[in-house]
Amino acid sequence: MAEPFDAVDVIRTKRDGGAVPEPALRWMIDAYTRQYVQDAQMSAFTMAVLLNGMTREEIRVMTDAMISTGERMSFAGLGKPTADKHSTGGVGDKITLPLAPLVASFGVAVPQLSGRGLGHTGGTLDKLEAIPGWRAQLTNEEMFAQMQGPVGAVICAAGSGLAPADKRLYALRDVTGTVEAIPLIASSIMSKKIAEGTESLVLDVKFGTGAFMKDYAQAKELAETMVALGTDSGVKTTALITAMSTPLGLTAGNANEVRESVEVLAGGGPADVVELTVALAREMLQMSGIDADPAEALKDGRAMDTWRAMIRAQDGDPDAPLPTPRETHVVTAERDGVMTRLDAFDVGIAAWRLGAGRARAADPVVHAAGIDLHAKPGDVVRAGDPLFTLNADDGSRFDRALEALAGSFEIGETAPEAAPIVRERITSV
Ligand code: URA
Repeated sequence: MAEPFDAVDVIRTKRDGGAVPEPALRWMIDAYTRQYVQDAQMSAFTMAVLLNGMTREEIRVMTDAMISTGERMSFAGLGKPTADKHSTGGVGDKITLPLAPLVASFGVAVPQLSGRGLGHTGGTLDKLEAIPGWRAQLTNEEMFAQMQGPVGAVICAAGSGLAPADKRLYALRDVTGTVEAIPLIASSIMSKKIAEGTESLVLDVKFGTGAFMKDYAQAKELAETMVALGTDSGVKTTALITAMSTPLGLTAGNANEVRESVEVLAGGGPADVVELTVALAREMLQMSGIDADPAEALKDGRAMDTWRAMIRAQDGDPDAPLPTPRETHVVTAERDGVMTRLDAFDVGIAAWRLGAGRARAADPVVHAAGIDLHAKPGDVVRAGDPLFTLNADDGSRFDRALEALAGSFEIGETAPEAAPIVRERITSV
Protein backbone atom coordinates (compact mmCIF):
# COMPACT_ATOMS: atom_id res chain seq x y z
CA MET A 1 0.00 0.00 0.00
CA ALA A 2 1.29 3.49 -0.85
CA GLU A 3 2.47 5.60 2.10
CA PRO A 4 0.22 8.67 2.63
CA PHE A 5 3.06 11.14 3.35
CA ASP A 6 6.63 11.81 2.40
CA ALA A 7 9.31 12.15 5.12
CA VAL A 8 11.12 14.86 3.16
CA ASP A 9 7.99 17.08 3.20
CA VAL A 10 7.65 16.62 6.97
CA ILE A 11 11.34 17.47 7.48
CA ARG A 12 11.06 20.58 5.26
CA THR A 13 8.01 21.84 7.15
CA LYS A 14 9.89 21.66 10.47
CA ARG A 15 13.13 22.94 8.94
CA ASP A 16 11.30 26.06 7.75
CA GLY A 17 9.74 26.68 11.17
CA GLY A 18 6.23 25.42 10.40
CA ALA A 19 3.95 23.20 12.46
CA VAL A 20 3.57 19.66 11.12
CA PRO A 21 -0.13 18.78 10.66
CA GLU A 22 -1.42 15.99 12.94
CA PRO A 23 -1.85 13.20 10.33
CA ALA A 24 1.64 13.76 8.93
CA LEU A 25 3.26 13.80 12.37
CA ARG A 26 1.44 10.63 13.45
CA TRP A 27 2.55 8.96 10.23
CA MET A 28 6.18 10.06 10.70
CA ILE A 29 6.41 8.40 14.15
CA ASP A 30 4.61 5.25 13.05
CA ALA A 31 6.61 4.93 9.83
CA TYR A 32 9.88 5.39 11.74
CA THR A 33 8.89 2.62 14.18
CA ARG A 34 8.12 0.38 11.16
CA GLN A 35 11.57 1.32 9.82
CA TYR A 36 10.05 2.83 6.67
CA VAL A 37 11.35 6.30 7.58
CA GLN A 38 15.13 5.98 7.79
CA ASP A 39 17.45 6.97 10.64
CA ALA A 40 18.99 9.70 8.45
CA GLN A 41 15.55 11.23 7.85
CA MET A 42 14.51 11.02 11.49
CA SER A 43 17.78 12.58 12.62
CA ALA A 44 17.21 15.52 10.25
CA PHE A 45 13.71 15.86 11.67
CA THR A 46 14.83 15.75 15.32
CA MET A 47 17.55 18.32 14.61
CA ALA A 48 14.91 20.58 13.02
CA VAL A 49 12.79 20.15 16.17
CA LEU A 50 15.78 20.98 18.36
CA LEU A 51 16.42 24.17 16.38
CA ASN A 52 12.85 25.32 15.72
CA GLY A 53 10.80 23.79 18.56
CA MET A 54 7.27 22.47 18.44
CA THR A 55 3.89 23.88 19.35
CA ARG A 56 2.09 22.44 22.40
CA GLU A 57 -0.31 20.75 19.97
CA GLU A 58 2.54 19.12 18.03
CA ILE A 59 4.08 17.87 21.29
CA ARG A 60 0.72 16.41 22.33
CA VAL A 61 0.29 14.65 18.98
CA MET A 62 3.87 13.36 18.97
CA THR A 63 3.48 11.94 22.50
CA ASP A 64 0.19 10.27 21.62
CA ALA A 65 1.66 8.85 18.41
CA MET A 66 4.56 7.38 20.40
CA ILE A 67 2.16 5.79 22.91
CA SER A 68 0.21 4.25 20.01
CA THR A 69 3.28 2.35 18.81
CA GLY A 70 3.11 0.03 21.85
CA GLU A 71 0.99 -1.45 24.62
CA ARG A 72 -0.95 0.52 27.23
CA MET A 73 -1.01 -0.91 30.71
CA SER A 74 -3.92 -0.41 33.09
CA PHE A 75 -4.05 -0.81 36.84
CA ALA A 76 -7.76 -0.01 37.03
CA GLY A 77 -8.51 -3.48 38.48
CA LEU A 78 -6.20 -3.09 41.47
CA GLY A 79 -8.79 -1.51 43.73
CA LYS A 80 -6.34 1.07 45.08
CA PRO A 81 -4.92 4.34 43.83
CA THR A 82 -1.71 4.27 41.76
CA ALA A 83 1.00 6.92 41.86
CA ASP A 84 4.41 7.11 40.23
CA LYS A 85 7.42 9.43 40.15
CA HIS A 86 9.85 10.32 37.40
CA SER A 87 13.09 12.16 37.87
CA THR A 88 14.91 13.79 34.97
CA GLY A 89 18.11 12.40 36.49
CA GLY A 90 20.97 13.61 38.62
CA VAL A 91 23.97 12.64 40.71
CA GLY A 92 23.32 10.76 43.95
CA ASP A 93 19.62 10.60 43.02
CA LYS A 94 18.58 7.50 44.93
CA ILE A 95 15.15 8.92 45.86
CA THR A 96 13.10 6.18 44.16
CA LEU A 97 14.51 3.60 46.59
CA PRO A 98 13.02 5.05 49.80
CA LEU A 99 10.11 6.79 48.02
CA ALA A 100 8.35 3.79 46.44
CA PRO A 101 8.03 1.75 49.68
CA LEU A 102 7.25 4.90 51.67
CA VAL A 103 4.24 5.77 49.50
CA ALA A 104 3.13 2.12 49.26
CA SER A 105 3.08 1.89 53.06
CA PHE A 106 0.03 4.22 52.90
CA GLY A 107 -1.90 1.80 50.66
CA VAL A 108 -1.05 3.46 47.34
CA ALA A 109 0.22 1.15 44.56
CA VAL A 110 3.50 2.37 43.04
CA PRO A 111 4.38 1.05 39.55
CA GLN A 112 7.91 2.38 39.35
CA LEU A 113 9.31 1.41 35.94
CA SER A 114 12.94 2.45 36.07
CA GLY A 115 16.01 2.64 33.91
CA ARG A 116 19.72 2.12 33.99
CA GLY A 117 22.38 4.81 34.19
CA LEU A 118 24.10 6.16 31.12
CA GLY A 119 26.91 8.69 31.36
CA HIS A 120 27.28 10.66 34.57
CA THR A 121 23.80 10.01 36.00
CA GLY A 122 23.09 6.78 37.88
CA GLY A 123 20.27 4.33 37.23
CA THR A 124 17.84 2.98 39.81
CA LEU A 125 18.07 -0.62 38.52
CA ASP A 126 21.88 -0.59 38.67
CA LYS A 127 21.71 0.54 42.29
CA LEU A 128 19.16 -2.13 43.31
CA GLU A 129 21.10 -4.86 41.54
CA ALA A 130 23.81 -4.33 44.18
CA ILE A 131 21.45 -6.26 46.51
CA PRO A 132 22.26 -9.99 46.24
CA GLY A 133 19.58 -11.88 44.32
CA TRP A 134 17.42 -8.84 43.41
CA ARG A 135 15.67 -9.18 40.05
CA ALA A 136 14.79 -6.22 37.79
CA GLN A 137 12.85 -8.13 35.11
CA LEU A 138 9.24 -8.88 36.04
CA THR A 139 6.40 -10.01 33.82
CA ASN A 140 3.33 -7.75 33.67
CA GLU A 141 1.49 -10.41 35.73
CA GLU A 142 4.18 -10.43 38.45
CA MET A 143 4.13 -6.64 38.54
CA PHE A 144 0.36 -6.54 38.88
CA ALA A 145 0.34 -9.21 41.64
CA GLN A 146 3.03 -7.38 43.64
CA MET A 147 1.12 -4.10 43.42
CA GLN A 148 -2.18 -5.69 44.35
CA GLY A 149 -0.80 -7.62 47.33
CA PRO A 150 0.49 -6.33 50.67
CA VAL A 151 3.80 -5.05 49.21
CA GLY A 152 2.11 -2.52 46.92
CA ALA A 153 5.30 -1.16 45.35
CA VAL A 154 7.28 -2.44 42.40
CA ILE A 155 10.55 -1.10 41.07
CA CYS A 156 11.41 -2.94 37.86
CA ALA A 157 12.61 -2.58 34.28
CA ALA A 158 10.17 -1.26 31.69
CA GLY A 159 9.14 -4.01 29.29
CA SER A 160 9.95 -3.62 25.60
CA GLY A 161 6.26 -3.19 24.75
CA LEU A 162 5.94 0.35 26.17
CA ALA A 163 6.36 3.11 23.55
CA PRO A 164 8.80 1.23 21.28
CA ALA A 165 9.06 4.38 19.12
CA ASP A 166 10.86 6.03 22.04
CA LYS A 167 13.47 3.27 22.24
CA ARG A 168 14.49 3.83 18.61
CA LEU A 169 14.20 7.60 18.82
CA TYR A 170 16.15 7.90 22.07
CA ALA A 171 19.03 5.77 20.75
CA LEU A 172 19.11 7.94 17.61
CA ARG A 173 19.02 11.22 19.58
CA ASP A 174 21.84 9.98 21.78
CA VAL A 175 24.21 9.78 18.79
CA THR A 176 22.99 12.80 16.82
CA GLY A 177 23.24 15.58 19.42
CA THR A 178 19.46 15.90 19.71
CA VAL A 179 18.80 14.82 23.30
CA GLU A 180 18.50 18.36 24.71
CA ALA A 181 15.27 19.44 23.02
CA ILE A 182 12.32 20.11 25.33
CA PRO A 183 9.63 18.72 22.94
CA LEU A 184 11.67 15.53 22.46
CA ILE A 185 12.47 15.03 26.16
CA ALA A 186 8.87 15.74 27.19
CA SER A 187 7.34 13.37 24.62
CA SER A 188 9.93 10.67 25.41
CA ILE A 189 9.32 10.70 29.17
CA MET A 190 5.56 11.22 29.08
CA SER A 191 4.84 8.63 26.35
CA LYS A 192 6.31 5.96 28.66
CA LYS A 193 4.60 7.25 31.80
CA ILE A 194 1.16 7.64 30.19
CA ALA A 195 1.45 4.19 28.52
CA GLU A 196 2.36 2.72 31.92
CA GLY A 197 -1.14 3.51 33.16
CA THR A 198 -0.50 5.29 36.47
CA GLU A 199 -3.37 7.46 37.78
CA SER A 200 -1.07 10.13 39.14
CA LEU A 201 2.48 11.19 38.55
CA VAL A 202 4.93 13.52 40.22
CA LEU A 203 7.83 14.77 38.13
CA ASP A 204 11.12 15.71 39.73
CA VAL A 205 12.53 18.13 37.16
CA LYS A 206 16.10 19.00 38.00
CA PHE A 207 18.16 22.02 37.04
CA GLY A 208 21.84 22.75 37.59
CA THR A 209 25.25 21.41 36.60
CA GLY A 210 24.39 17.76 37.30
CA ALA A 211 21.05 17.89 35.40
CA PHE A 212 20.03 17.72 31.74
CA MET A 213 18.62 21.23 32.04
CA LYS A 214 21.40 23.47 33.22
CA ASP A 215 19.26 26.56 33.77
CA TYR A 216 16.09 27.22 35.69
CA ALA A 217 14.00 28.66 32.85
CA GLN A 218 14.57 25.56 30.70
CA ALA A 219 13.68 23.24 33.59
CA LYS A 220 10.50 25.21 34.19
CA GLU A 221 9.49 25.03 30.54
CA LEU A 222 10.12 21.27 30.53
CA ALA A 223 8.10 20.85 33.73
CA GLU A 224 5.16 22.89 32.38
CA THR A 225 5.21 20.98 29.09
CA MET A 226 5.16 17.59 30.84
CA VAL A 227 2.49 18.59 33.35
CA ALA A 228 0.26 19.74 30.47
CA LEU A 229 0.84 16.47 28.58
CA GLY A 230 -0.02 14.35 31.61
CA THR A 231 -3.07 16.39 32.54
CA ASP A 232 -4.42 16.37 28.96
CA SER A 233 -4.10 12.57 28.95
CA GLY A 234 -6.07 12.19 32.16
CA VAL A 235 -3.05 11.53 34.43
CA LYS A 236 -3.01 13.77 37.54
CA THR A 237 0.42 15.34 37.18
CA THR A 238 2.47 17.77 39.24
CA ALA A 239 6.14 18.70 38.99
CA LEU A 240 8.67 19.89 41.52
CA ILE A 241 11.60 21.87 40.18
CA THR A 242 14.60 20.83 42.25
CA ALA A 243 18.23 21.83 42.58
CA MET A 244 20.92 19.54 41.12
CA SER A 245 24.16 21.51 41.24
CA THR A 246 25.37 19.57 44.31
CA PRO A 247 25.05 15.77 44.58
CA LEU A 248 22.08 14.52 46.59
CA GLY A 249 23.12 12.99 49.90
CA LEU A 250 26.59 11.74 50.72
CA THR A 251 26.94 8.94 48.18
CA ALA A 252 27.19 8.58 44.40
CA GLY A 253 27.43 5.03 43.12
CA ASN A 254 25.36 1.88 43.52
CA ALA A 255 25.80 -0.18 46.72
CA ASN A 256 26.65 2.95 48.71
CA GLU A 257 23.42 4.62 47.51
CA VAL A 258 21.41 1.56 48.63
CA ARG A 259 23.06 1.81 52.05
CA GLU A 260 22.12 5.49 52.29
CA SER A 261 18.54 4.81 51.18
CA VAL A 262 18.21 2.20 53.95
CA GLU A 263 19.41 4.83 56.44
CA VAL A 264 16.58 7.10 55.26
CA LEU A 265 14.07 4.26 55.61
CA ALA A 266 15.38 3.72 59.15
CA GLY A 267 14.48 7.32 60.01
CA GLY A 268 17.99 8.80 59.53
CA GLY A 269 20.01 9.68 56.43
CA PRO A 270 21.13 13.01 54.98
CA ALA A 271 18.71 15.92 55.36
CA ASP A 272 18.50 16.73 51.62
CA VAL A 273 17.57 13.14 50.70
CA VAL A 274 14.91 13.07 53.42
CA GLU A 275 13.57 16.51 52.37
CA LEU A 276 13.14 15.51 48.73
CA THR A 277 11.76 12.03 49.51
CA VAL A 278 9.12 13.50 51.83
CA ALA A 279 8.22 16.34 49.40
CA LEU A 280 7.66 13.91 46.51
CA ALA A 281 5.76 11.44 48.74
CA ARG A 282 3.49 14.28 49.89
CA GLU A 283 2.58 15.03 46.25
CA MET A 284 1.87 11.36 45.49
CA LEU A 285 -0.30 10.91 48.59
CA GLN A 286 -2.19 14.12 47.98
CA MET A 287 -2.99 13.17 44.37
CA SER A 288 -4.15 9.77 45.68
CA GLY A 289 -6.57 11.48 48.07
CA ILE A 290 -4.63 10.54 51.22
CA ASP A 291 -4.16 13.19 53.88
CA ALA A 292 -1.15 11.96 55.92
CA ASP A 293 2.37 12.99 56.84
CA PRO A 294 4.82 10.71 55.01
CA ALA A 295 7.62 11.61 57.43
CA GLU A 296 5.79 9.60 60.13
CA ALA A 297 6.19 6.34 58.18
CA LEU A 298 9.96 6.87 57.99
CA LYS A 299 10.10 7.36 61.75
CA ASP A 300 7.86 4.46 62.83
CA GLY A 301 9.35 1.74 60.60
CA ARG A 302 6.35 1.21 58.26
CA ALA A 303 8.30 2.30 55.18
CA MET A 304 11.21 0.02 56.16
CA ASP A 305 8.85 -2.97 56.51
CA THR A 306 7.51 -2.30 52.99
CA TRP A 307 11.06 -1.94 51.62
CA ARG A 308 12.08 -5.31 53.04
CA ALA A 309 8.96 -6.99 51.64
CA MET A 310 9.49 -5.31 48.24
CA ILE A 311 13.11 -6.49 48.02
CA ARG A 312 12.16 -10.05 49.06
CA ALA A 313 9.29 -10.15 46.55
CA GLN A 314 11.88 -9.65 43.79
CA ASP A 315 14.19 -12.37 45.16
CA GLY A 316 16.58 -9.98 46.91
CA ASP A 317 17.89 -10.48 50.44
CA PRO A 318 17.48 -7.22 52.39
CA ASP A 319 19.79 -8.58 55.13
CA ALA A 320 22.63 -9.70 52.87
CA PRO A 321 25.84 -7.66 53.09
CA LEU A 322 26.23 -5.25 50.17
CA PRO A 323 29.32 -5.51 47.94
CA THR A 324 32.39 -3.68 49.24
CA PRO A 325 35.19 -2.21 47.09
CA ARG A 326 38.54 -3.94 46.72
CA GLU A 327 40.38 -0.59 46.65
CA THR A 328 39.71 2.78 48.28
CA HIS A 329 41.43 6.14 48.08
CA VAL A 330 40.77 9.06 50.43
CA VAL A 331 41.05 12.72 49.34
CA THR A 332 41.74 15.10 52.23
CA ALA A 333 41.38 18.87 52.69
CA GLU A 334 44.56 20.87 52.15
CA ARG A 335 43.49 23.78 54.33
CA ASP A 336 41.08 24.83 57.06
CA GLY A 337 37.88 26.51 55.91
CA VAL A 338 34.33 25.89 54.82
CA MET A 339 33.25 24.02 51.70
CA THR A 340 31.65 26.61 49.42
CA ARG A 341 30.94 24.51 46.32
CA LEU A 342 30.74 20.84 45.29
CA ASP A 343 29.89 20.26 41.66
CA ALA A 344 27.38 17.49 40.91
CA PHE A 345 28.52 16.95 37.33
CA ASP A 346 32.18 16.48 38.30
CA VAL A 347 31.29 14.07 41.11
CA GLY A 348 29.05 12.13 38.68
CA ILE A 349 31.86 11.88 36.13
CA ALA A 350 34.30 10.72 38.81
CA ALA A 351 31.90 8.03 40.09
CA TRP A 352 31.33 6.91 36.51
CA ARG A 353 35.08 6.64 35.86
CA LEU A 354 35.41 4.55 39.02
CA GLY A 355 33.08 2.00 37.41
CA ALA A 356 29.73 2.97 38.97
CA GLY A 357 28.27 3.90 35.56
CA ARG A 358 28.52 2.66 32.02
CA ALA A 359 29.80 4.21 28.78
CA ARG A 360 27.67 1.99 26.53
CA ALA A 361 24.23 0.57 27.24
CA ALA A 362 25.53 -3.03 27.23
CA ASP A 363 28.43 -2.45 29.68
CA PRO A 364 28.20 -3.92 33.20
CA VAL A 365 28.54 -1.63 36.23
CA VAL A 366 30.69 -2.29 39.30
CA HIS A 367 28.27 -2.37 42.20
CA ALA A 368 30.79 -1.43 44.89
CA ALA A 369 32.24 1.48 42.86
CA GLY A 370 31.47 5.12 43.59
CA ILE A 371 32.21 7.99 45.91
CA ASP A 372 31.39 8.62 49.56
CA LEU A 373 31.29 12.33 50.36
CA HIS A 374 32.45 13.42 53.81
CA ALA A 375 31.67 17.12 53.38
CA LYS A 376 29.02 19.14 51.56
CA PRO A 377 28.76 22.91 50.92
CA GLY A 378 28.41 24.69 54.25
CA ASP A 379 30.47 22.13 56.21
CA VAL A 380 33.53 23.34 58.12
CA VAL A 381 36.66 21.30 57.39
CA ARG A 382 40.19 21.23 58.84
CA ALA A 383 43.36 20.52 56.87
CA GLY A 384 43.75 16.72 56.71
CA ASP A 385 40.04 15.97 57.12
CA PRO A 386 38.69 13.43 54.60
CA LEU A 387 36.59 15.02 51.82
CA PHE A 388 35.91 12.03 49.56
CA THR A 389 36.46 8.27 49.66
CA LEU A 390 36.82 6.81 46.17
CA ASN A 391 35.71 3.17 45.85
CA ALA A 392 36.77 0.91 42.98
CA ASP A 393 37.57 -2.69 42.16
CA ASP A 394 40.73 -1.64 40.36
CA GLY A 395 43.12 1.02 41.70
CA SER A 396 44.14 2.05 38.16
CA ARG A 397 40.79 3.88 37.93
CA PHE A 398 41.70 6.42 40.63
CA ASP A 399 43.81 8.80 38.49
CA ARG A 400 41.06 9.65 36.00
CA ALA A 401 38.48 9.98 38.78
CA LEU A 402 40.80 12.33 40.67
CA GLU A 403 41.22 14.42 37.51
CA ALA A 404 37.43 14.85 37.37
CA LEU A 405 37.32 15.82 41.05
CA ALA A 406 40.24 18.27 40.89
CA GLY A 407 38.11 21.35 40.16
CA SER A 408 34.90 20.05 41.67
CA PHE A 409 35.04 21.76 45.06
CA GLU A 410 36.22 24.89 46.81
CA ILE A 411 37.22 25.46 50.40
CA GLY A 412 36.75 29.13 51.30
CA GLU A 413 36.04 31.41 54.21
CA THR A 414 32.29 31.97 54.19
CA ALA A 415 29.54 29.36 54.13
CA PRO A 416 27.20 29.71 51.13
CA GLU A 417 23.61 30.61 51.86
CA ALA A 418 21.59 27.44 52.49
CA ALA A 419 18.93 26.97 49.81
CA PRO A 420 16.00 24.52 49.74
CA ILE A 421 16.10 21.58 47.32
CA VAL A 422 12.55 22.15 46.06
CA ARG A 423 12.31 25.53 44.30
CA GLU A 424 8.87 25.50 42.70
CA ARG A 425 5.77 23.38 42.34
CA ILE A 426 4.09 23.25 38.94
CA THR A 427 0.53 22.11 38.64
CA SER A 428 -1.78 22.13 35.65
CA VAL A 429 -1.22 25.25 33.49
N1 URA B 1 14.77 10.56 29.85
C1 URA B 1 13.99 10.01 28.89
O1 URA B 1 13.32 8.99 29.11
N2 URA B 1 13.96 10.62 27.69
C2 URA B 1 14.66 11.74 27.41
O2 URA B 1 14.56 12.23 26.31
C3 URA B 1 15.47 12.29 28.41
C4 URA B 1 15.51 11.67 29.63
